[in-house]
Amino acid sequence: MTDLKRYIRDVPDFPQKGIVFRDIAPLLREHFAPTIDALGALLPAERWQSIDAVAGIESRGFILAAALAMQHGKGFVPIRKKGKLPPPVVDRPYALEYGSGVLEMQRGNGTLVLVDDVLATGGTLRAAADLCTDAGYEVAGLIALIDLKLIPRFEWRGQVAVSVIEYV
Ligand code: IMP
Repeated sequence: MTDLKRYIRDVPDFPQKGIVFRDIAPLLREHFAPTIDALGALLPAERWQSIDAVAGIESRGFILAAALAMQHGKGFVPIRKKGKLPPPVVDRPYALEYGSGVLEMQRGNGTLVLVDDVLATGGTLRAAADLCTDAGYEVAGLIALIDLKLIPRFEWRGQVAVSVIEYV
């Protein structure tokens, strides 16, 4: 089995001094299908059956969530940065490892699995999960391709985020 972590490129001092940016571009270019397979395998088949759609967080989360949705025959729901989606939208402010912002999504219903590329402080995933609830969805899974392990375990309303690649 391919060691997917080997294809993550560490970029020191990007986008700010002192930050090591984990760049997933080489992984997506070289091993996109195995990466999506590994993400899909994080949830048991029975859980996938009960899920209506996969929500991706802009922008790298879109790539992963859309492919995952296709693979499992599910819909795709975008969670975007403020001002990108036409109204009506619901929003949530959030804090990042470097900076802050507002996430937005359109209202809906059904069960979602939430996907992003990197879990750092967990602020983005937490805000996105809260936002999904505000928007009328039920969150049935939290997935990050990479967990930087800045926090020992990310939990939201009793659900623990799962990941393919971890940094310890
Ligand atoms: P958090 O909110 O602190 O968990 O940060 C996660 C968000 O920041 C995700 O949406 C990522 O896209 C982005 N992010 C944080 N660190 C990195 C990184 O090293 N590489 C790529 N994206 C990152």
